[in-house]
Amino acid sequence: MEYKIVLMYHDVVNELHPKSGFQKVGALQYTLNSRVFFEQVTRFNGDYIVFSFDDGGESFYTVIAPILEHNNQKGIFFISSKYIGTEYFLTKEQIKELDKRGHLIASHSHTHPLIISELSYNEIVNEWKTSKTLLEEIVGHEVTVASVPGGAVSKDVIKAAAEVGIKTLYTSEPTTEVRIEYGIEVIGRFTVSKDTTMEFFDKIVSDKNYRVQLQKRYKRLLLVKKFLGSNYNRFKQLVLKLRG
Ligand SMILES: [Zn+2]
Repeated sequence: MEYKIVLMYHDVVNELHPKSGFQKVGALQYTLNSRVFFEQVTRFNGDYIVFSFDDGGESFYTVIAPILEHNNQKGIFFISSKYIGTEYFLTKEQIKELDKRGHLIASHSHTHPLIISELSYNEIVNEWKTSKTLLEEIVGHEVTVASVPGGAVSKDVIKAAAEVGIKTLYTSEPTTEVRIEYGIEVIGRFTVSKDTTMEFFDKIVSDKNYRVQLQKRYKRLLLVKKFLGSNYNRFKQLVLKLRG
């Protein structure tokens, strides 16, 4: 296949490790059970599928890496550096070991701002720079890959990433297209939540029209988000609460 499908996960838990990452209502929606994840990795194991994980929860080390390695896969692990070593997040030693085991350690900003695109340009530069520097200190080599927290991408978010030396920036736009902006690669990803079905995977892998539909829907949602601004997040919390 000439393109890659990058999947975006967050945490994967099991009975031994039931908690990982941000323990918020919104985040739990993206926490998968390890049996479900195992099934997805074994079924969609191939060169054209990339498994990526956001935030830096300790399940990257305790649950996810062992499952990927069992299937001869490597992960891209995006880490919000402020939370390293805190409860339910990866420790420095775990990050170092994941890097040594061949996984890609990447940045997911420093503080994981709610809407990074709403920060000032200098604040965005600092988010990328701080996180890149801290991760480089841990792994002992350059870190040039990042993903946008909350998917809140903007021209400034890309430009600031390029300015501090990020070469590849992953977003949450469901697309296989790779764009070049400010001299760096901008790559879309397909979100996997705990409600994601096998049919969804089959379709995103095999059905180009379905992917185009998803991308259109995503763009419409972005417009709504922009229009509602910070009210959108309150609205989303409310919807999630109502769903239980
Ligand atoms: Zn995130």
